[in-house]
Amino acid sequence: PFEVLVVGGGPAGAAAAIYAARKGIRTGVAAERFGGQVLDTMAIENFISVPYTEGPKLATALEQHVREYEVEIMNLQKAQKLVPGDDFISIELANGAALKAKSVILATGARWRQMGVPGEDKYRAKGVAYCPHCDGPLFKGKRVAVIGGGNSGVEAAIDLAGVVAHVTLFEFDTKLRADEVLQRKLASLPNVDVKLSARTTEVLGDGQKVTGLTYENRVSGQIQTLELEGIFVQIGLLPNTEWLKGSLELSPRGEIVVDERGQTSVPGVFAAGDCTTVPYKQIIIAMGEGAKASLGAFDYLIRSSAP
Ligand code: FAD
Repeated sequence: PFEVLVVGGGPAGAAAAIYAARKGIRTGVAAERFGGQVLDTMAIENFISVPYTEGPKLATALEQHVREYEVEIMNLQKAQKLVPGDDFISIELANGAALKAKSVILATGARWRQMGVPGEDKYRAKGVAYCPHCDGPLFKGKRVAVIGGGNSGVEAAIDLAGVVAHVTLFEFDTKLRADEVLQRKLASLPNVDVKLSARTTEVLGDGQKVTGLTYENRVSGQIQTLELEGIFVQIGLLPNTEWLKGSLELSPRGEIVVDERGQTSVPGVFAAGDCTTVPYKQIIIAMGEGAKASLGAFDYLIRSSAP
């Protein structure tokens, strides 16, 4: 059995594995896709002390760093059940095997909910973006749309309005769902338009990059076109925690509830990164949280196990 078993091989999982291995304890990583969301990212300009890198390059560096240590990496392994036990916690894999560990660190990350319209996939990272903190500055002086009028959409619109030339916010419903204070702030901005009862129907592009979008006015049924350079999709970030339902405490959004040491509601099970309740989903934050959960797990081990 492992002393620390990390589930997930993104920035949080990689950091957790390195911190555990450096304690000289038996460490494993089981990941569906080592590298995680970083693999889907092009330019990364906010990983502090590295002014510019690209996703695949950072993912390779993550794996290389983990491989500096005696960590058993089990790539292409999907966990589908967590079973706490008296001596060991068991992680059941989709291939039928079960891994046993004295402590587990869950770092399964999250995924952005997509609009599911034509052009979205084709122009991802070519104008279609999901993270205003990451990609906002790339659209300096340009016109963008934000899709989604909940808190994250309205926050994104306010944030982007300070960077880009113009923002159009699209909401499917007849009204915005964001907090009142955010809506008031949004309404005060001169370079933001809001379109309600508007359903995005297609992302338009010239083959290289986004040039606009079409949307349906749900009241009149008319299809309209708007020219712009960027589209930020803000209709939800889904934590990869469906498989944990019923085995530990999740928030109403499905995020794993953790304390300040990354401890979950199950003793010996820790969690870090985008799959947790910790706000602001970013690489640098996920790495810090992974390190923290790993130290939390080590603390747990030295208190609970006989020498
Ligand atoms: P993830 O990176 O999501 O990794 C999760 C890991 O868990 C993966 O290995 C996955 O395969 C694995 N996994 C999931 N479910 C299971 C399971 N059941 N069993 C086993 N393994 C499982 N952040 C920035 O700071 N700067 C940026 O410029 C930036 N740009 C981004 C651009 C895009 C297009 C996207 C999608 C994200 C971007 N982010 C950026 C966000 C950043 O990538 C995430 O915050 C970060 O990767 C989270 O790390 P994580 O380790 O928590 O999760």
